[in-house]
Amino acid sequence: MSFMKLLLYNSLNRRKEEFIPTQKQQVGLYTCGPTVYNFAHIGNLRTYIFEDILKRVLLYNGYRVKHVMNITDVGHLTGDRDMGEDKMEKGAAREGRSAWEIAEFYTRAFKADIARLNIIEPDIWVKATDTIEDQITLIQTLEEKGYTYQTGDGIYFDTSKFADYTKLSHQNIESLQEGARVEKNPEKRNPTDFALWKFSPKDVRRQMEWNSPWGIGFPGWHIECSAMSMKFLDNQLDIHCGGTDHIDVHHTNEIAQSEAATGKKFFNFWMHGAFLIIAGGKKMAKSEENFLTLENAFVKAGINPLVYRFAAFQTHYRKPMEYSSESVQAARNGLQHLQNQVRQVTQGAAGRTAAVNEAFKSKFLAEINDDLSMPRAMAVVQEMLKSTMADAEKLATILSFDTVLGLELDQVDKTGALPPAVQKLFEDRQAARSAKDWTASDRLRDAIQELGYTVQDTKEGMKIIKN
Ligand SMILES: [Zn+2]
Repeated sequence: MSFMKLLLYNSLNRRKEEFIPTQKQQVGLYTCGPTVYNFAHIGNLRTYIFEDILKRVLLYNGYRVKHVMNITDVGHLTGDRDMGEDKMEKGAAREGRSAWEIAEFYTRAFKADIARLNIIEPDIWVKATDTIEDQITLIQTLEEKGYTYQTGDGIYFDTSKFADYTKLSHQNIESLQEGARVEKNPEKRNPTDFALWKFSPKDVRRQMEWNSPWGIGFPGWHIECSAMSMKFLDNQLDIHCGGTDHIDVHHTNEIAQSEAATGKKFFNFWMHGAFLIIAGGKKMAKSEENFLTLENAFVKAGINPLVYRFAAFQTHYRKPMEYSSESVQAARNGLQHLQNQVRQVTQGAAGRTAAVNEAFKSKFLAEINDDLSMPRAMAVVQEMLKSTMADAEKLATILSFDTVLGLELDQVDKTGALPPAVQKLFEDRQAARSAKDWTASDRLRDAIQELGYTVQDTKEGMKIIKN
């Protein structure tokens, strides 16, 4: 275990707080997953990168992490306040496939995306459609406790009965009511009330619908996350994450219904990743219909998706991240430079091993433990690599840091391996230099040069860089 304090910004209290899990060494982490009706856009993926860093930082601090992520495959409507169409059925109609096929297809696409970003998979994936019974039970509890009422189109949660409804959003309830009034549903008692269960329309047979004590229908989006997180993280509700757009409605409603049902605090820490801003100041959103995916912006453009991961480290997760072709190019250069540095220290280490440098490890830990300050942690990475430490020590230290960075720096030497002929000359020259045979050394340097590589003799030994 690390003995350095881990400070995380808690949206509930709007300040950085020391993180202490409910159970000694294991952390319960719930991250709101994708609604699988379309590809994730790179703005969505920024949030998953932030959550992956959080998880890796917890692991680096010596905690075990039980990570649950849901797949929303029903119930998420196009309007956040229970209005509009079901996104799944809309996606199905768009593509001429069934809602179930759409869910399957985009779940697979999402998993491929996070794998390409080297995001560690959650321990538990859970589909909303696999926990319908749990959701119904939770709604029944709320009904017994008097928090629900029925309208023509569903069962609703009465937000006026939950005293601290705005404790996460910190919004003024009147302005919130005013904002919610835009999407009118005359049967709601309060504009902020939300659906727990929606009835299937009488004249339409939905593709996804279930029996319930109230009639055939489907669950609301918010109840899904409450039921799934309580089911799997019951006694360790430590950290719940999502994008900042989840604060006002989705997470606010999750807290209200969960705490109303259990009478207990629902998650100690709430953490939120900020938006991606496309050059020109627009927030990326699926509804804009011109969104960038990892596939079209990176893979098809021949850019390693890890460039996007690297790019995300340049901005603190709570600040909007600017995205442009220039920022991608800068990240591309930055990652390449880092890979070259690692390749050089690998060569310099020449198979020698060393321990991780504790002083630099403490420095790195101090930054990541200060609310995941990745821009400053990346500065420590450069400071360490440019220090006068021996290459073997640098290599051990950067590979330790990479368990947090997740940039696959341990693969750099393999992908950038020297051709056998160059490797042979490299080893001959090392032998010549050990024997102080400078004539042979110079001749071998020229031979290496002819094969397209530059030799550098540094304090830490010989390095070879591809021209
Ligand atoms: Zn959620």
